[in-house]
Amino acid sequence: MANIVAIVGRPNVGKSTLFNRLIEERKAIEDNLSGVTRDRHYGHAQWGGKFFSVIDTGGYVTGSDDLYEKEIRKQVRLAIDEASVILFVVDCIDGLTDLDTEFAKELRSTEKPVFMVANKADNLDKMLMANEFYALGLGEDTIFPISSSSGSGIGDLLDELIKKFPDEGEEDPDEGVPKIAILGRPNVGKSSFLNALIGKERSIVTDEAGTTRDAVHTRYQLYGKDYILTDTAGIRKKAKVKEDIEFYAVMRSLRTLEDSDVVIVMVDATRGLESQDVNLISLAIKNNKGIMIMVNKWDLIEKDHKTMLTFKEDMSQKLGENKWIPIIFISALTRQRIYQAMELAMKVYDNKHRKVPTSKLNEFILPEIEKYPPPANKGKYIKIKYITQLPTKNPVFAFFCNLPQYIKSPYTRFLENRLRENFDFEGVPIKITYKKK
Ligand code: GDP
Ligand code: GDP
Repeated sequence: MANIVAIVGRPNVGKSTLFNRLIEERKAIEDNLSGVTRDRHYGHAQWGGKFFSVIDTGGYVTGSDDLYEKEIRKQVRLAIDEASVILFVVDCIDGLTDLDTEFAKELRSTEKPVFMVANKADNLDKMLMANEFYALGLGEDTIFPISSSSGSGIGDLLDELIKKFPDEGEEDPDEGVPKIAILGRPNVGKSSFLNALIGKERSIVTDEAGTTRDAVHTRYQLYGKDYILTDTAGIRKKAKVKEDIEFYAVMRSLRTLEDSDVVIVMVDATRGLESQDVNLISLAIKNNKGIMIMVNKWDLIEKDHKTMLTFKEDMSQKLGENKWIPIIFISALTRQRIYQAMELAMKVYDNKHRKVPTSKLNEFILPEIEKYPPPANKGKYIKIKYITQLPTKNPVFAFFCNLPQYIKSPYTRFLENRLRENFDFEGVPIKITYKKK
């Protein structure tokens, strides 16, 4: 189960400052990631050996003041639905405000843990102000005074926060079974695909706006191999206003996405790759998931021998550097290639767990580096000495060299491409880091 922490609160209390502090330590690692655009409101954090995701919900709320009340309701409700823990941030300089009370009202209905975080407790005086917020009658037994700008108090908060996350390593009957999620815009054909694949009317199709249910994990077999499909088809279908869509898409997809190994992004052939699809893909990349694109309703496209290629090239263009994402064309209606699609998902799963022996890496990649060494920087020559794949859950390759700080991102892309040519990482984000040696 994914650990998701949502930061909620009225504007200007310091949510994004706190958010940036929480994800701070990871930044350096993520900067080495090739070909990924970073989302300012969503990131990963780690404390006491536990990993969690953080969402700055405020980052998504835009608009004039009178919009806030409505926004608050929506924001808080989504946060409650999707998060495992909620950080409710208030401001010791301003003290208790009406808007805080509004937030508290909305939060009171949840059974999920709520932490009252009194920010801007920069000194003892301000810290005493934190007591004022007990009036809200919310949260765990205590209020956490913190200063996001200096960092004080955040350690104590995190110590308590991580106690809410389950311990790793408890026996999980699904351990080692590939978890595959099917995500995509409403009406792309997710339920139809599942029904075609599973052969019975298993996902309840609800067209009603506002119907919610949790994603369902179900275990299946294909050619004797177990896998788990996460079915999001029944999840609330329509965002009420246009501006909701990005926030909605992110929140709704997050948990499903985090709980899966491979994400199938389903796209409607008659519409092509849309910006929401691209958002989903970048979210999946950020989460180090295996990814594939499944173009459905292929039966509706008039085809000649070049159509598929043209489609692929067009999508490739939109994917930019992420050309390693495989694309398959299916029809849930005629059942064309539906089993091949699942086989592809399993292959992506295998690729994601591929461990390349150090000897092989050096045998294949060092000669490529010799042919095209990193360009000298400020008159200094960069020498890469050897390469090894780290024992991480997702493929990460460490390149040991004399001057890691001088290697620029075009060269990282060059290395990534050579790795992909020599070893099969189709559908899998890979990371490259440089270490001094
Ligand atoms: P958000 O709208 O809730 O995301 O708030 P921001 O993170 O943008 O912060 C709003 C303002 O409060 C900014 O000017 C921050 O510099 C300031 N701020 C944030 N944390 C602290 C803090 O711990 N102490 C003080 N004094 N100011 C802070
Ligand atoms: P969901 O919202 O993603 O679960 O989409 P549905 O499975 O409910 O499908 C939406 C609509 O698209 C329904 O009318 C389906 O009959 C239709 N549909 C789904 N797959 C296909 C397909 O492969 N070809 C055609 N022509 N229509 C499809």
